[in-house]
Amino acid sequence: MVVPLYIARVEDLGSGDLVQIKCSCGHVMVLTPRNLARAGVQGNAKVLDLQSRLRCRECDARGRAVVSIRWSKSVA
Ligand SMILES: [Zn+2]
Repeated sequence: MVVPLYIARVEDLGSGDLVQIKCSCGHVMVLTPRNLARAGVQGNAKVLDLQSRLRCRECDARGRAVVSIRWSKSVA
């Protein structure tokens, strides 16, 4: 199921869906729902809120990233 990013929650993501977080430094993190669960993110957390929760591994910045979702399937 494809949900608009601004209302999407972690629990809306299926196993093939990915969250891409692109930091302002250019570093890109791609996370699977399983990665998020392992990081302690609750299912009802908004995907957009990951921006402020996750820290860039490259420059250590937080909250300066652009979050997007790569859905494995688009709506038919
Ligand atoms: Zn960065």
